[in-house]
Amino acid sequence: MIPKDHPRYQSLITRKKLAQYTLTGVVSLEGLTAHGRGEAFDYLIGERTTESAKLAERIAAAMLISARHPVISVNGNTAALAAQQIAALQEASGAIVEVNLFHRTEERVKKIEELLRDNGCDVFSGVAEQLLPLSHDRAWCRREGMFSADVVLVPLEDGDRCEALVRMGKKVIAIDLNPLSRTSRSATLTIIDELTRALPEITAACKELSKDECRQLTASVDNHYLLSEAIREINLRLCHAMD
Ligand code: ATP
Ligand code: MG
Repeated sequence: MIPKDHPRYQSLITRKKLAQYTLTGVVSLEGLTAHGRGEAFDYLIGERTTESAKLAERIAAAMLISARHPVISVNGNTAALAAQQIAALQEASGAIVEVNLFHRTEERVKKIEELLRDNGCDVFSGVAEQLLPLSHDRAWCRREGMFSADVVLVPLEDGDRCEALVRMGKKVIAIDLNPLSRTSRSATLTIIDELTRALPEITAACKELSKDECRQLTASVDNHYLLSEAIREINLRLCHAMD
């Protein structure tokens, strides 16, 4: 039992949730360590949505609603932490939701798809093929899903698939708390924010942006600026840590 007045209540509840999802196989043990890296960077950024992340979230919304064939790629951690938020974003953006895993088994894919459906997602499933130019299991996707996408949202991505998707000519939106990761550096647009803070912001922006705002935002993507702003925020916090 985690007491509600514990100063790290939210973080402890999230850890517990992820640990429980390892028991059903939705989250991999490796996924737990990836979460730990995320938590460390969240500490450094102050566990809040920065102004530059908010801008990135609005640009992400504009990219998704202006896309021809937008896809949200979901892995185990994302499904465990944010299945309902993914459903809300799908509704607001019209994007396809497709499961894509590094530690892939058919059984795990089915479990994650079921969790997403139970939380209101319309999941694009069916026969997967090894279509992405990668030597590991994230190569598996669906021809009419991710393979045909023009814009892909990849929360908690690994760097090589992000690079592969960009090389295929797709616009890739990453959500990753680590501004130094290969994912962050190779994505078209990186949101340096925690997944469950970022998703509702993107959903809200999908509902409120006008066509003109969308045009302006999609024309203004500058990932280098967004990453350098995140690093500046971290630096500022480090410099003031001992004040
Ligand atoms: P790369 O291969 O891109 O250099 P990596 O090896 O760190 O990066 P993974 O091990 O796949 O990539 O880790 C996933 C990333 O997701 C980590 O960088 C971590 O910071 C980030 N992350 C984990 N949990 C969250 C979360 N809840 N919200 C946002 N980002 C997260
Ligand atoms: Mg990696």
